[in-house]
Amino acid sequence: MRTYYCHTCDADQPHRKLSTAEAAVLKERLGRNSVNEFWICEAVLDAETGRQCRNLRTGGNKKPFARPIKLPVPE
Ligand SMILES: [Zn+2]
Repeated sequence: MRTYYCHTCDADQPHRKLSTAEAAVLKERLGRNSVNEFWICEAVLDAETGRQCRNLRTGGNKKPFARPIKLPVPE
């Protein structure tokens, strides 16, 4: 867990590394073999459902994509 600025929350928020399942989804989406540099925003956007932001950034780049990527919740 680490606090980073989240571009879509427009605030500093807790982030964590991706789970294995999340990394697999992102590798597929980006067509890459490694996505180890990514962190996912854990800010809770809806207290009732616990829905989280899930926006992606890297440790050094708060906006690595032209359009923000928010990972879907795994099934
Ligand atoms: Zn966020």
